[in-house]
Amino acid sequence: MEREVQRLRAAFQAGRSRPLAFRLQQLQALRRMVQEREKDLLAAITADLSKSELNAYSQEVITVLGEIDLVLEKLPEWAAARPAEKNLLTMLDEAYVQPEPLGVVLIISAWNYPLALSVQPLIGAIAAGNAVIIKPSEISENTAKVLAKLLPQYLDQDLYAVINGGVEETTELLKQRFDHILYTGSTAVGKIVMEAAAKHLTPVTLELGGKSPCYIDTDCDLDVACRRITWGKYMNCGQTCIAPDYVLCEPSLQDQVVQKVKDTVKEFYGENIKESPDYERIVNLRHFKRIQSLLEGQKIAFGGETDEATRYIAPTVLTDVDPETKVMQEEIFGPILPIVPVKNADEAIKFINDREKPLAFYIFSRNNKVPVAWVLITESTASRLFPTYVPAC
Ligand code: NAD
Repeated sequence: MEREVQRLRAAFQAGRSRPLAFRLQQLQALRRMVQEREKDLLAAITADLSKSELNAYSQEVITVLGEIDLVLEKLPEWAAARPAEKNLLTMLDEAYVQPEPLGVVLIISAWNYPLALSVQPLIGAIAAGNAVIIKPSEISENTAKVLAKLLPQYLDQDLYAVINGGVEETTELLKQRFDHILYTGSTAVGKIVMEAAAKHLTPVTLELGGKSPCYIDTDCDLDVACRRITWGKYMNCGQTCIAPDYVLCEPSLQDQVVQKVKDTVKEFYGENIKESPDYERIVNLRHFKRIQSLLEGQKIAFGGETDEATRYIAPTVLTDVDPETKVMQEEIFGPILPIVPVKNADEAIKFINDREKPLAFYIFSRNNKVPVAWVLITESTASRLFPTYVPAC
């Protein structure tokens, strides 16, 4: 691994990845790879996550192509030097800010959207003129293999490499000195990555998880709210970093929410959810057992069926959930939606502020003052770090 990092560093230091024309050409090659090898990529994603090709295409391929196109369009402007204001110390100089590549970047990615989570950070790293090592998740092993096969066929092999492996290989990789690390995955492993990076004073970008709440106000279009929550929660079988994790609402809304989510699940996935091409499976047995254990002792309003052989867990809603139980202590990352009754918006705000920062939060209200209260509390916390999505009713 040390030799691999040195090999890439030598190519970077030779200046190969710097010219704007080279970066654009590599991004166009990446685009060609995604288009020409779409079938191979879709087959790998569907095998990893029991996903339909249509879902794999709409959730991953479109995202990646959209990002490449955006960067191809904007990069000349982003990479250009910008004039800087002069002061007493620089008044006789030519002063400008020039974006510079950092060097060799390590990308460690997660399995839940295995193509997008590896390729999106790669797009940014190439665009910024870096050499890159990509370490896909070993859990999505089919996509990891296909990336290791295809990327060298399309990208400059002296500057971009794929290293596959699990904890052992990643631990070894993290001993090397990188110039930036882009990590997507759990908070627990994020701490390991940051500790390893600190030894070399390497800056990190950590795309972590969290419990993303929904607040449903009494003054809202409940049909729209439940439809959107159902879509976000059960897409990819709940294995989405910004999936609605749980619902806070007044007790009087709880039964209506259950019924509307249930109706929408039927509309989206049909009577026999197991047969639906749109409903995925839990990625492996470890995660299946972890999610199954979150159901213990809970009041199941609907769903709750599980099948270990196929790692199927039905879309499930839990009611009157006690915030002290396990399902409210960790990110669910599966198709279980707990409803925690609260008295009002103030109590919901306090509930969220008393816990770890969420990755996203979703407010359903016609009352403009409710979202304003949220923005006020989060301006100093999550919203500056993470994209916040507030769907309007
Ligand atoms: P994970 O932490 O288990 O694994 C992520 C990566 O870390 C993998 O490549 C894996 O090989 C590596 N890894 C695992 N254990 C390691 C160790 N001990 N030492 C070094 N490397 C190790 O995460 P996951 O289960 O693959 O991903 C799920 C998590 O990722 C969820 O929390 C989800 O919310 C989060 N996520 C966040 C985003 C985002 O954009 N913020 C996107 C997708 C997923």
